[in-house]
Amino acid sequence: MKLILLGPPGAGKGTQAKMLVEEFSIPQISTGDILRAAVKDGTPMGKKAKEYMNTGGLVPDEVVVGIVRDRLQEEDCNNGFILDGFPRTVAQADALQASLQEMSKELDRVISLEVDAEALVERLTGRRTCKECGRGYHVKFDPPREAGICDVCGGTLFQRDDDQEETIRKRLQVYSEQTAPLISYYREAGVLMELDGMQPIPIVKEKILSLLQAS
Ligand code: ADP
Ligand code: ADP
Ligand code: ZN
Repeated sequence: MKLILLGPPGAGKGTQAKMLVEEFSIPQISTGDILRAAVKDGTPMGKKAKEYMNTGGLVPDEVVVGIVRDRLQEEDCNNGFILDGFPRTVAQADALQASLQEMSKELDRVISLEVDAEALVERLTGRRTCKECGRGYHVKFDPPREAGICDVCGGTLFQRDDDQEETIRKRLQVYSEQTAPLISYYREAGVLMELDGMQPIPIVKEKILSLLQAS
């Protein structure tokens, strides 16, 4: 299963990717997670990416394209993968096609999660993430049993620096300008599945699974 989860920031890509990892035992490749780890470790790539991420812009295509190309070569991707947050521009989508072609692989599906802008702002301002295991929560829509503590591992939950209203608005604008064109890109390629992402997490999960089983 070689999948892309497409959708604006806050659509639920990370949440559903983690579900698919368990369901299909294939890795989640989140360029956002990889970049945040590089920023935290202070690597040269992280130093370069930090500015763009903090202001809600996109990290240059060549940086993320290189990350994904290397990651797809790793052995755990042999049975498939879930791309979460990549591609985000037409140039990235073209580069992905070229990388897959080199490896004689083909995308199976692109799942596009559709959510209204106001709901996205509410989701992102309430998003919390476990410092230890990366599990995502929401203060209202998916709260942990104990405030601030991860149900799975007991780790501390934190709020991302870029999940504040001003940066969120910028990211949503960047999404509509640079990433939304990928919806028609993949529709034309015949791999797009559009899904209503406004429903509760377990319902979106069931819909994704039934769409994948039907195809
Ligand atoms: P979200 O889950 O809210 O959509 P991500 O974790 O995917 O956010 O991304 C966080 C930030 O990392 C983005 O705002 C952007 O600066 C950078 N980033 C992640 N993926 C990409 C990508 N494919 N291309 C360019 N920048 C990216
Ligand atoms: P993305 O990776 O697309 O940026 P996330 O999966 O991190 O989005 O979800 C953003 C926030 O919204 C998280 O706090 C998550 O718990 C919450 N969330 C995800 N899916 C839903 C949903 N269907 N309904 C309500 N809240 C959701
Ligand atoms: Zn945890």
